[in-house]
Amino acid sequence: MPAQTDSPQVVSRPQIDTRPRALLIAGEPVPAADGATFDTVDPAVGTVITQVAKAGPEDVDRAVDAARAALAGPWAGFNPDQRQRVLLRLAELVVEHGEELALLDVIDVGRTVAAARYLIADAAELLRWYAAKARTVRGQTIENSRRGELLTFTVREPVGVVGAITPWNAPLTMAIWKIGPALAAGCTVVHKPAEQSPLSALRFAELALEAGLPPGVLNVVQGDGGTGAALTEHPGVDKISFTGSVATARHIVRASAGSMKRLTMELGGKSPNIVFADADLALAVPAAGAAIFTGSGQICAAGSRLYVHRSVYDEVVAGVAEYGRGLRIGDPALATTQFGPLASREQLDRVLGYLDVGRAEGAEVVSGGARLTEDGLGEGFYVPPTVFAGVDPAMRIVREEIFGPVVVATPFETEDEVVALANATDYGLAAGLWTRDLGTAMRMTRRLKAGNVWVNTWGVTDPAVPMGGFKLSGYGKDLGDEQLDAYLETKAVALKG
Ligand code: ADP
Repeated sequence: MPAQTDSPQVVSRPQIDTRPRALLIAGEPVPAADGATFDTVDPAVGTVITQVAKAGPEDVDRAVDAARAALAGPWAGFNPDQRQRVLLRLAELVVEHGEELALLDVIDVGRTVAAARYLIADAAELLRWYAAKARTVRGQTIENSRRGELLTFTVREPVGVVGAITPWNAPLTMAIWKIGPALAAGCTVVHKPAEQSPLSALRFAELALEAGLPPGVLNVVQGDGGTGAALTEHPGVDKISFTGSVATARHIVRASAGSMKRLTMELGGKSPNIVFADADLALAVPAAGAAIFTGSGQICAAGSRLYVHRSVYDEVVAGVAEYGRGLRIGDPALATTQFGPLASREQLDRVLGYLDVGRAEGAEVVSGGARLTEDGLGEGFYVPPTVFAGVDPAMRIVREEIFGPVVVATPFETEDEVVALANATDYGLAAGLWTRDLGTAMRMTRRLKAGNVWVNTWGVTDPAVPMGGFKLSGYGKDLGDEQLDAYLETKAVALKG
């Protein structure tokens, strides 16, 4: 069955503000000091949307100065109740402007409008959750173990200026995941969105000002890796919260060592999704498809390795391929579209490169496998849902993160065998399993080496539940109490009366 397409695929772009974008420093829109700009491109049609100011080291300096001044200035005077109110108002504004924000991400990275709307609502919920958390920061009174005359206690203080460096795959979601808890903790932020997706970050920061955030508390410096490096090396930045690739994370770890910055690293994954013989296949098969094809596979916790018990292997692999073929592919700005383009030309080249690697390694292409060039799609960066079978663990397509709609399927016989296969990876972000047997579920959740394990479900995130990986998938957590904690320092006080 061919991919379903809407025709004509690419309708006129929605009403988006396409004026050139400035940086946001100390509450003011400003051009880059050297006047540099870069283009941001619509991946559904391959054309330039607008120009965006590109921050250099001098701009990063000014943004960090503004964030330091705000930390010592008006923001320090905001008590938890006031921080909560600003965050709640900001959540309301995000909902009110949800359509505008969603469309910015749709044209910037090709996320389907349905997914972008869902993600905006989800991000607003996260802001409300951290708004509540702003009022829960507390230390401990500690019975001194040696000197009874001392009163000893801890206080929690904001870590300071946070450099938030975010990726392009879910631009506003990733920004809010970092900025929400940082503000709840009382930090100030310099945000560096990805060069492929700069538009929604600036609009969000403008809404934050409207919500009552003092100027300088949230600054936005758009730009590429050089801008990110300037932020990472800056002695005025106390913490970097990063989501992106392992290669960039290594640069950040080295560059931040000089000033011993605090780091939260949410990196890639090659996450195993395991279907046991007793699984409810009516649930497991579409979920396995959604686990890898949502967002065109450009999700760090995508279920990119599928392990299926041999007794149901053919049925599950055929079902996942069929699920992919049934997705309506097209212009992400159409509400009916279920599967959009890859986010950029580099990403297209990267994924097509892996399709070639897979074929050269001898894997069998069950479905997909080549760029879509049908009418209306040819100018965009479209790669269809792709299933590879007949793979072995040594293949690059099994070991490396492709970050595209490509799943590799492998049969297994025993629990020990699948545990070994699933854990044979440098990554450890997420893992999933499908079974009706409670014992299997209990044993497997213990044995899988991953920061998030999902049983009979996939990809469920919640503001209250920490998310983040083991091994090369990083350290520190996004979301949950853990993330708030990571924006706070602990000061221990001993007081003699
Ligand atoms: P990807 O390869 O998926 O684009 P990256 O890790 O390169 O992921 O990008 C994630 C974010 O890190 C982006 O905002 C990008 O501009 C930024 N970045 C890239 N290189 C560096 C660097 N050397 N230092 C700091 N940030 C960087």
